[in-house]
Amino acid sequence: MKKITSVLLASALLGAALAGCGGNNNAADTGNKANTGNAAATANSGSAAETPKVGVAIYKFDDTFMTGVRNAIDTAAKGIATVDIVDSQNSQPTQNDKVDLFVTKKYDGMLINPVDRTAAGVIIDKAKTADIPVVFLNREPLPEDMKKWDKVYYVGAKAEESGTMSGQLIVDYWKAHPEADKNGDGVLQYVMLKGEPGHQDAELRTTYSIQAIEDAGIKVEKLAEDTAMWDRVKGQEKMAAFLGSHGDKIEAVLANNDDMALGAIEALKAQGYFSGDKYMPVVGVDATAPAVQALQDGTMLGTVLNDANNQGKAAIVLASLLAKGETPTKETVGFDITDNQYVWISYKKITKDNVADAQ
Ligand code: BGC
Ligand code: CA
Repeated sequence: MKKITSVLLASALLGAALAGCGGNNNAADTGNKANTGNAAATANSGSAAETPKVGVAIYKFDDTFMTGVRNAIDTAAKGIATVDIVDSQNSQPTQNDKVDLFVTKKYDGMLINPVDRTAAGVIIDKAKTADIPVVFLNREPLPEDMKKWDKVYYVGAKAEESGTMSGQLIVDYWKAHPEADKNGDGVLQYVMLKGEPGHQDAELRTTYSIQAIEDAGIKVEKLAEDTAMWDRVKGQEKMAAFLGSHGDKIEAVLANNDDMALGAIEALKAQGYFSGDKYMPVVGVDATAPAVQALQDGTMLGTVLNDANNQGKAAIVLASLLAKGETPTKETVGFDITDNQYVWISYKKITKDNVADAQ
């Protein structure tokens, strides 16, 4: 809040200074757009109704992918909403307190990335009572909760799709590289690094990635599976443990996100992989900047673009429209709306051959 206030003040001062220059209106416009258009627009138009206040609660700031989404929300908010973005610190009670605060502050809209997606129902009850529309993001509320109110939306990506794509990356590699079957038994021995249990992306990516491999006619054997909670350090620890018990029997590593895949790559490097001809196919999901680097370095085989920019953009545009009392349409949101409540952003397979698509 402190930050917003000072930004507002700075913009107002900037606006006043530029306005005072006379005959320099274009400069003033450009200045506002390039800087903090969201707050500046409020200061300039003098009409708060045009730039609704939206409270944004992220499940935790310390998450690589959600940091990308958070930055996208902040950027896309310029000129359409004044955002108050807060950290729920991976605690649902903390997030519920933040929601109460948004209600007390009489914000016009809320954008919530739940800590626990099954807690969305409670948040929807609070929002409905206060008549503050709410957009959920990244962690999908249960369908029965979504049905509680028509001013509830969800922006996300189809978890199944990312699972299928990451499995296909392994299929392509396996088919092109007969030596990938290290023990020559015609079966793909793999290990799985899973995200947070209960998260739709963790559950469905785990299932659908293996399904895609089997659908391609490849027999699989799971040597190990464990959760590393989306976390790079935990990914490294779990992979070190897998290597300790299965060593060179492992023929592929599937991770539900890039941070865990990057952790696995560290553990593999420590065992001499990625030097000489010791190689391991590792796939992740997200296409974060460090993952793109790993693709270019040849340590990560492939990933799936989880489009943080468009997810953040769609979410804040939607929240801003709802906050102004409008009924969002495909035209005003700029994205398709499914079943009146869902905006789905597509995934895309990324390897070193098309990294530009992820940058
Ligand atoms: C991303 C993960 C992230 C999680 C947070 C997933 O969609 O792939 O990297 O940690 O969302 O909820
Ligand atoms: Ca084998």
